[in-house]
Amino acid sequence: MTLKVVFATSIVVLAMPAVHVVIEAQRAAAADRGAPFQQLIDQIDSQRSTYADVAKQIWAFAEVGFQETRSSALLQQQLRAAGFSVRSGVADIPTAFVASFGSGKPVIAIVGEFDALPGLSQEPTPRRSAIVSEGAGHGCGHNLLGTAALAAAVGVKEWLAGGRTGTVRYYGTPAEEGGSGKVYMLRAGLFNDVDAVVTWHPGDRNDASPSTNLANITAKFRFHGTAAHAAFAPHQGRSALDAVEAMDYMVNMMREHVPQETRIHYIITKGGAAPNIVPDFAEAYYYARQPDMRILDGIWERIVDAAKGAALGTGTTMDYEITGAVWNILPNETLSAVMHRNLERVGGFPYTPEENVFAEELRKTLTDPPTMAIGSQEKVEPSRAGGVGSASTDLADVSWNVPTVSMTAATFVPGVPAHSWQATACAGGSIGLKGMMVAAKAMALTTADLFTEPTIIQKAKTEFDQKRGPGFVYKTRLADRKPALDYRK
Ligand SMILES: [Zn+2]
Repeated sequence: MTLKVVFATSIVVLAMPAVHVVIEAQRAAAADRGAPFQQLIDQIDSQRSTYADVAKQIWAFAEVGFQETRSSALLQQQLRAAGFSVRSGVADIPTAFVASFGSGKPVIAIVGEFDALPGLSQEPTPRRSAIVSEGAGHGCGHNLLGTAALAAAVGVKEWLAGGRTGTVRYYGTPAEEGGSGKVYMLRAGLFNDVDAVVTWHPGDRNDASPSTNLANITAKFRFHGTAAHAAFAPHQGRSALDAVEAMDYMVNMMREHVPQETRIHYIITKGGAAPNIVPDFAEAYYYARQPDMRILDGIWERIVDAAKGAALGTGTTMDYEITGAVWNILPNETLSAVMHRNLERVGGFPYTPEENVFAEELRKTLTDPPTMAIGSQEKVEPSRAGGVGSASTDLADVSWNVPTVSMTAATFVPGVPAHSWQATACAGGSIGLKGMMVAAKAMALTTADLFTEPTIIQKAKTEFDQKRGPGFVYKTRLADRKPALDYRK
């Protein structure tokens, strides 16, 4: 591999006029001042089997939001063994932690997630086969997310330990999936002295474009009625399920009258005990998303009004609990440019013949034919500004408080969407692990650049201040509620 690169470079240099040779030499010198490429790559590669083992263990634990006891403990144990000091149980969340190494400025945070999703248990095979029926699974690849962040943090720590000043931290952030874990960690002041945040997310491509996404408010609407024999004394009953259905009906009509980027989804978590008992309790669990937090706030008020109206019209009562609330991502183009350059230095990866077969079989199970081709994981997507992803994350709240950068690596077969059993299958196999290593290296290199080139952080902060605008005050719909530790129960 090294020989190939040297050969290719010498050909290019020979073919170039003298002025280009000078520019190439300047670029090489600039690269030398940046992250120590080979040292970080070699350090991370040397621990590959450890990281593969950690990622597989977390994948098998498959613990949902705020219940990630074993996953969190395993990551903490790895960080302690690598020389980090760890504060666990921070922000009133038993599975949240902050691991720290070094001292002084800058303080760079690498963020790790590790929660699984309910109902997405799946063997690492290209056919639907749950390991635990209705069990949880890593359909968003957070087993890889948390482990790549570990690999990057340890890699940077080893390099910092060679006599550099600065602090590298690993933020163990639970319950990303609807639990808004990071919002409570922000509220507890844990990010106050952080200069920049580096992270990534599993995906079906290698991409470090600076994009935003959707703000999201989630809540459980609970209706209380009166139970009665559904045949013998229906007039004595008031159905809480009727209220849920009335609310859902009104919100479904509302879809025509909201900006089209809005996303609203719900499930009925409780709908009664038996058809011959008028349900005295029913519950609907709602998510509402929008690229603009201010517009989402207004839509949310209308959803709450629909719930109030449903209760009034069905003779029931209603209360609701906001279980999660996250902003849209504030992208930082300065940091994304650094991450994109490093992702290109790391590059994508080819599949083995067995992985190709796995990918082809898995793609046959997708409802829509994928537009991304197998092989696209070998390259890095060009960096494009202005994208709006349609998912949501509590990382967004961090991004409005500290300049933040993220990327995706191709841990999922091209075309496989997150939150699917297919994604769980990829996250538990060799393709997921290869993508994880790409992310670990790109994050480590980016973090090391932030230590070696202070101007990057200055520029990122200027951009951050400009984008937030004068007088910006960060607020969350979670207000002062305690972490919803039981939201997955
Ligand atoms: Zn995710």
